[in-house]
Amino acid sequence: MTRTVYLNGDYLPETEAKVSIFDRGFLMSDGVYEVTSVLGGKLIDFAGHCARLGRSLSELGMAAPCSDAELLAIHRELVTLNDITDGMIYLQVTRGNPGDRDFAYPPADTKPTLVLFTQNKPGLADAPAAKTGWKVISVADERWGRRDIKTTQLLYPSMAKMMAKAAHVDDAWFVEDGMVTEGTSNNAYIVKGNRIITRALSHDILHGITRAAVLRFAAEAQMEVEERNFTIAEAQQADEAFVTSASAFVMPVVEIDGAAVGTGAVGHLVPRLREIYLEEMAKAAI
Ligand code: PMP
Repeated sequence: MTRTVYLNGDYLPETEAKVSIFDRGFLMSDGVYEVTSVLGGKLIDFAGHCARLGRSLSELGMAAPCSDAELLAIHRELVTLNDITDGMIYLQVTRGNPGDRDFAYPPADTKPTLVLFTQNKPGLADAPAAKTGWKVISVADERWGRRDIKTTQLLYPSMAKMMAKAAHVDDAWFVEDGMVTEGTSNNAYIVKGNRIITRALSHDILHGITRAAVLRFAAEAQMEVEERNFTIAEAQQADEAFVTSASAFVMPVVEIDGAAVGTGAVGHLVPRLREIYLEEMAKAAI
């Protein structure tokens, strides 16, 4: 089945959706994005993604391409047209096509480019890795200083993913000034006893939608939550570790830089948190 994608008001076969070479997204990575999961044909935490998209756009002085209600309708139409049960919807907004290349932003009335497409991932919530856990390596965090804005500037995270692949592990954790910031495309956590420790929100990390939900559910389940920095050495000595993202959900981490975390096998608290997260988010899906 040919994928149907969305581009600036039209639903098109993927081969017919074309964006200008002058688009600011192409020339300057002047764009922001969101990735919303679909489980059982329904959108997970759509409101959270809309709120963050609004924040990213406003931090960059970029106009919203349409209302949240219109975005919801487009997401739902793409789920239907592409017959998605489980998967993801990628959304990107760029500052549009000013017709030439210039560092200065184009006039505010330049039409933003809005692109959405689906990724079909049957069984997304049943990833086998959730049973065995991820292995990660640490790498220097050499990204820009506004990681709280979800921009399409993803070259350094891609390089880090390739470093992880070269090391035959699943992902990389960024380290800055001796402290873990986050994973290549996820937020990072350690567990000590009943306590979950994760870096506090700032410009240094993406404000994960999954992070917000998981910390809320953890507190409701009488787990303690501490938002503070931690080192790789502390993580290696923790009882458990994990990452969160809108498509990996809650994923255990069992090895960091070759050292086993806890027993080196998936522990107890992280799978419970994953179960709670998936249950609660499925109930609230729209
Ligand atoms: N940090 C980074 C750098 C990311 O790219 C992502 C995924 N977009 C996350 C954290 C997790 O965010 P979310 O839970 O909203 O997917």
